[in-house]
Amino acid sequence: MRISFHGAAGEVTGSCHLIETTAGRILLDCGMIQGGKERHERNRAPFPFNPADVDLVVLSHAHIDHSGRLPLLLEQGFRGRILTTTPTVGLVEILLADSGHIHEEDARWKIRRLKKKGEDASWVTPLFTRREALAVLEQLVAVEFDTWYALDGIGRVRFNMAGHILGAAIVELEIEDGDRCRHVTFSGDLGVQGARLLARPAPVEAPEVLIMESTYGDRDRPTQEDPTDRLLEIVRHTAKRGGKLVIPSFAVGRTQEILARFNDLAESGRLEGIPVMVDSPMAVEATRIFTRFPQAYSKEARRLFCSGDQPLQFDGLSLVTSVEESKAINFLEGPAVIISASGMCTAGRIKHHLKNNISDPAATILFVGYQARGTLGNVIQSGVDPVRIFGEEYPVRARIERISGFSAHADRGGLLDWFSGLGGVPESTFLVHGEPDSAAALGTELRDRHKAAVMIPKRGELFDL
Ligand SMILES: [Zn+2]
Repeated sequence: MRISFHGAAGEVTGSCHLIETTAGRILLDCGMIQGGKERHERNRAPFPFNPADVDLVVLSHAHIDHSGRLPLLLEQGFRGRILTTTPTVGLVEILLADSGHIHEEDARWKIRRLKKKGEDASWVTPLFTRREALAVLEQLVAVEFDTWYALDGIGRVRFNMAGHILGAAIVELEIEDGDRCRHVTFSGDLGVQGARLLARPAPVEAPEVLIMESTYGDRDRPTQEDPTDRLLEIVRHTAKRGGKLVIPSFAVGRTQEILARFNDLAESGRLEGIPVMVDSPMAVEATRIFTRFPQAYSKEARRLFCSGDQPLQFDGLSLVTSVEESKAINFLEGPAVIISASGMCTAGRIKHHLKNNISDPAATILFVGYQARGTLGNVIQSGVDPVRIFGEEYPVRARIERISGFSAHADRGGLLDWFSGLGGVPESTFLVHGEPDSAAALGTELRDRHKAAVMIPKRGELFDL
């Protein structure tokens, strides 16, 4: 068996790992590279393997950094099935369509800019179009959680709840390899144990080979701070000054986790009637998908659901989709909460809300998620002033706040607990999906505590096992 790593190796985006045995080739995820100057070239570069030779793709979850290069895989010759969970199919559709739309817009903008300067623009094409993105759906196959699914002639696969976002899975694979059966588990992205909305990551048995994420391998989140209390504190503080609270949030996952918290605040009367708006067609669509799969909820959210109370619906919540309604938010008097995407402020309606509020001393910009280097979110969060939005400079007068407790990723303690729950030590553990320091720190812990054989693969590195 050979495993090679083609993304999310020494970094947190571009998840893409290839397993090859005598029986076939399985690609785990096919994610987009996000952040960093060289991302455009890397996303456009041909895959370092022949996509036509890949038998099937197993997709851990819908996030673009795990699914975003699937249209390119198809374009370069992949014709097999893409196996994933039922909720992921719904989320992939909205995320990939949006991604295709953004690439088309980017290309249009670039062409306009070049033409204005009188330069040749004929070479500019979108990374992929919305239509090319949606072609991926034809090769997607939805599989239930917790059920072994036969991969004809190759082996079998089972998806276990990872709790990271709706549909996210820990993937167990049993793959034929000559006269052996190889047991490989891919953690995908692991969720947190105390998430308000989604279930915790499921325990699985120790495999022969483990490919494990390490995003927060070097960090524990503070346990003393309840994110809901902190959220309320920031809401009240901003409301007192009469400003808007702008929350850049990933449309899928983070927005719904935040909404579940606002649901608690609203229904216990603590929100005091302050309106909450989700202004992102994609986040609204994702929220609707989340309400269809209560079986993925945490115990608490499920209890709420069973008592007839939707954890993502409360008085004062508006789900904004039309452009007119979105523009009207700008003229709203008094305090309000605006949750909008994209989560790293690289595109979408959030940029308009930032432009309209960042220079208002009464407003607050609240970051609730990871901001990759080079993104507008990262620039604002690191205190740059003024900031450039839509090509113009804006002085930063709003308060910049951050709550780290909302992360959809297990922290150091959560990762170590999940590894201990394997009930044994894999023969080989590969740490992926982490910056070098995070992966190294987790690697040291796993070696010290479990005498685990840990490898931290570099991009392009391959291992014969
Ligand atoms: Zn993810």
